[in-house]
Amino acid sequence: MSVEYLKKILTENSGIVCLLGRAQAIAGGCDFYREDYAYEIETKYGRSPGEIFSSSFFRNRPKAFYECYREELLKKRGGPDECNYALKRMEDDGRLLGIVTRGFFNHSRMAGCRNVVQMYGNIDANTCPHCGRVYDGKYILEHTPLPYCENCGTLIYPGVALQGEMLDNQQITRAADLIARAKVLLVLGTGLTSNLGSLVRYFQGNLLAVVNSREELSDYKADCFCEGNAAEIMAQAYPGNHPLAAEGSV
Ligand SMILES: [Zn+2]
Repeated sequence: MSVEYLKKILTENSGIVCLLGRAQAIAGGCDFYREDYAYEIETKYGRSPGEIFSSSFFRNRPKAFYECYREELLKKRGGPDECNYALKRMEDDGRLLGIVTRGFFNHSRMAGCRNVVQMYGNIDANTCPHCGRVYDGKYILEHTPLPYCENCGTLIYPGVALQGEMLDNQQITRAADLIARAKVLLVLGTGLTSNLGSLVRYFQGNLLAVVNSREELSDYKADCFCEGNAAEIMAQAYPGNHPLAAEGSV
């Protein structure tokens, strides 16, 4: 189905909620979600990303953990793309209720989006487990080898969900509530069979739109499906104010 139909849906409705998938983060320049990334990590560190980004590895080898966290997440985080700026404008225009994502690179907030449910955490929300003070990625980059809380001296806990930990129940509840309130659900940069896409089960609204690089069997459930590059499609359907676009470099 056409981008024109998507444009019509997004410009004529409010109560829109976006499930934002990893295609956006990859397009935004972060390496972590690339398919060959796990292999690169194993070659470089002799361990899988799952082993490194686990609560036991963090507890036992915090220096090695934070080295990898800086090199592989913070230094390769990329930035917001057209999808994030489109969502920011939709929120400013009063059409978007919020965003639900498993991505922890914080691109949507960097673009200015306000209501973002980050189910797997946020690399800019590293927290002191003792006093609760929050530190952004820049602070972690600047404080080597181990980042300690300025307030109380405790080792700061990474902002992303680690393997072997329970997910934050509050975030899951917030995500389910937000999706249940949506009139329109926009699934962007992922399919309905992905872990994120499966949250569509909470949706009770009227219109389901999917924008993804390839069509999947389950997409027949969508009222509108657009196949292709999510950033290019969103730039046509709901152009945002990308700060670099004006300079012609995007
Ligand atoms: Zn503290």
